[in-house]
Amino acid sequence: MKRTAGESRPLVGLLLLPLLLCPATSTWAAEAARDGVAPLAALLEAIPPLTSPLGQRPPLFLWSPELPVTASDAQLETTLRALQARGLCLFLRWQPDASNTMTQLRRVAGIHKKLGLPVAVDATPVSHGLFPKADSYSHVGQDGKPFRGSGLSWNPGCPCRATSRNDAVRGRIDSYARAQQAAELPLDYWISDWELDGPNEWKQSWAAARKCVTCCRQIPDIATNFAAFQAVVRQLRAEMQRENFVRPVQACFPAVRIGNYAMNPHDGYRYYWDYYEEDAFGKPNLTDGIAYRREQGAYYRPWWRGEFETSGYNLAAPVIYAWYHLFANYAFTNTDYRWFYGMLLEGSSAARHTPANTPLIPFLHGMPIGAPDKTSDRPVGFAPLNAAMFKELVWHLLLRGADSFILWAPGDEVRELQPLQAAYAESLAYQEFFEKGTPALFDLPDQPGVVVSAMKWNGKLLVRRTDFADPAAPVIIPLDGKQLFVPVAPGRCQVLTLE
Ligand SMILES: [Zn+2]
Repeated sequence: MKRTAGESRPLVGLLLLPLLLCPATSTWAAEAARDGVAPLAALLEAIPPLTSPLGQRPPLFLWSPELPVTASDAQLETTLRALQARGLCLFLRWQPDASNTMTQLRRVAGIHKKLGLPVAVDATPVSHGLFPKADSYSHVGQDGKPFRGSGLSWNPGCPCRATSRNDAVRGRIDSYARAQQAAELPLDYWISDWELDGPNEWKQSWAAARKCVTCCRQIPDIATNFAAFQAVVRQLRAEMQRENFVRPVQACFPAVRIGNYAMNPHDGYRYYWDYYEEDAFGKPNLTDGIAYRREQGAYYRPWWRGEFETSGYNLAAPVIYAWYHLFANYAFTNTDYRWFYGMLLEGSSAARHTPANTPLIPFLHGMPIGAPDKTSDRPVGFAPLNAAMFKELVWHLLLRGADSFILWAPGDEVRELQPLQAAYAESLAYQEFFEKGTPALFDLPDQPGVVVSAMKWNGKLLVRRTDFADPAAPVIIPLDGKQLFVPVAPGRCQVLTLE
């Protein structure tokens, strides 16, 4: 479903408490080590408090660092207030140690509740184990013997023999949700990074299934029809998430926003390869018979549409990372555009197809993943996306419909958070556009040129224009039967009207 004019924006945030509650930043250096908040100290010193309230918009979520659970109660609350003042929120983690998890939940979520901060849970540590290792879930050869052979690290079994419900995982998720509910703690966001565990169609998975008598019986044209095999795999994968994650959590928290890494509505293609899907960083694993879309050196993969919807998720979490292959596969002489283009392709696919009432909160990472360590092994001209262009990327994602982000930058949070939070903070000056507006543009040029994104509200457009080629000149974009005239405006937004 496309975000369309007239639909209201999702209201997924909580009110920011008065900013005056934020302590002076000098507090951190003096007290951080003693009070167990050292990993956060540099971040809190480097990132300024917001000067406008978040209103109804969600905070920015940080996958790392960890919450300072060893801090004193007073310092923990002070730290959470400081994060809140900066528009930031960390995840509480459901850990295998249930007793310790609940102790921390009561303490930390209790303060979140008191401050009006959303409670966001990362359930990754307790989400795995969905595809059992037993032979009864493996493919079956012509000789009747079980086998696996996906080439993937977890070597999933037969998608035609596994069932969607897994009582061990479901029971674990259910017990945490019930315990959190019993403690009268809220649960506003539930996210998992569940990837390496379920049915999967990539690497040698299709080749293995074609040798399986069960798969061949249930998917008669499996030898030539990758799409049919993919549909079986992705359907089961989505049902596993629905039965074992979504339903038990929603039974206790019907209003929770729930999602998983890389689960989002899209246009039928995936524009990147995750690290475990490649043969090596930058080297996609290509299979004859799969209808890739080629662009320069990039291979876009067909992706089953319905995965997000079948799972029952209501929070879209696409992955917008600076994978090394983006730089390696595009030949643009403007090297920033290699990253920018690949990342915004994926972001635009998600944004264009995510319904207006579904929060869109991408996982975001701006520094290269998987680039060769040795300079001599890197392509000529190799350079990361610079911070100013990363900030531009954030702006375009916001104007295309991103409601917030989950920053994944372990150990490097400050470098990535500075441009991200700066863009988000600036966007608060245009609150009505983001709370009530509708994204109007999703295109981007296939050569470095002018990228324009816009949010439409009340007869006006909040517009960001970023130029990747000289000379810069005004552009005219047809929109709603009229024309949008976009002057050059480096590093700032414009409020424009159609002519
Ligand atoms: Zn099979």
